[in-house]
Amino acid sequence: MNNCTHSYPKQTKLKKYLKNRIMDSDSKNQLEGWGLKRPGRPLVIAGPCSAETREQTLNTAKQLKKIGLEVFRAGIWKPRTRPNQFEGVGSEGLEWLRSIRSELGMKVAIEVGNVKHVYEALRSGVDIIWIGARTTANPFAVQEIADSLRGVDIPVLVKNPVNPDLNLWIGAIERLSGAGISRVGAIHRGFTTYDKTRYRNIPQWELPIELREKMPEIPLLCDPSHMGGSRELISELSQKALDLNYNGLIIESHCNPDEAKSDKEQQVTPIQLNLILKGLAIRNVTTEDPSLMITLEDLRQRIDLCDTRLLSLIEERMNVVQKIGRYKKENRLTIFQPSRWSDVVKSAVTKGREHHLSDELVINLFKAIHQESINNQTKILNN
Ligand code: PEP
Ligand code: MN
Repeated sequence: MNNCTHSYPKQTKLKKYLKNRIMDSDSKNQLEGWGLKRPGRPLVIAGPCSAETREQTLNTAKQLKKIGLEVFRAGIWKPRTRPNQFEGVGSEGLEWLRSIRSELGMKVAIEVGNVKHVYEALRSGVDIIWIGARTTANPFAVQEIADSLRGVDIPVLVKNPVNPDLNLWIGAIERLSGAGISRVGAIHRGFTTYDKTRYRNIPQWELPIELREKMPEIPLLCDPSHMGGSRELISELSQKALDLNYNGLIIESHCNPDEAKSDKEQQVTPIQLNLILKGLAIRNVTTEDPSLMITLEDLRQRIDLCDTRLLSLIEERMNVVQKIGRYKKENRLTIFQPSRWSDVVKSAVTKGREHHLSDELVINLFKAIHQESINNQTKILNN
């Protein structure tokens, strides 16, 4: 499991770690220099999953402008998982975005998936481009896009790849920075999983947190729409991202979500979006040393994330224990098998040492888990 393998600072190193983290929070402010948002507020990019018609696109943009948003998103070419679905209006939609820029003065952002998209986006004056999750997973495609952007001064946001591979995400960011793009940001939109979860794409928050540690200068945005896959989850996921000090949000909004040609379940009207945004608490930094406050809060959030994973791992272990219990019952085996138990503890103590955990902690932890396992199996046997 790589879920909790991030090494936490030992007490003696904590001071140095905190000092570095303070520098992190300072450097995060570099998004302020991008000219996309009001100082001190997270950047909010909003707009429909897809530009569908001139009317729908402009209508949505007008309403978003009305609620105070300044950066509009829309998919022009849509990377659909299966063919024969709506694949975007294509170049025609770029003209609608030009109207949004000239009539409403909003900045516009679109997804590019290949070099042709880049040229068309640049020709039509798009302000920001993003690389979609499926494209980030393909280094050839990312390199071609990066090469086509050499010498161009445009912000590029890189969504996480569909698979939870941090290095692939970092690699895509490096390819763009390596091509001389000075404003590269990251979008966390969650990761594909076979398991049935409440999310369309599971967050795995520890990955973007590690990304931020490795690349503190890269602004980080959250895409709660693709992560949650449903309107109901947007608020909760956005709040979580803000609590983790993300620099902004990219949220899907459509003037008539129920009729949307793609991702209708996860889009909200601009009015609903306004309510969601108003309901978000932006951490009020009141202490004399604000960066320290943010740092401690960051660390606490990370501990909470680890604890959640720890509990779900223990649950998974108990489910297996119950299966073994039923097997033992069917085969008339005893519950407690001393040799197996002593092997488990010995191996845990050895592995624990490799992870810098004291023997005392490992033995106590395993005693408690073992006791719970015996209780569970006893219940099954007596049923
Ligand atoms: C999108 O933003 O509309 C999109 C296709 O997202 P993703 O690349 O995250 O699936
Ligand atoms: Mn979408």
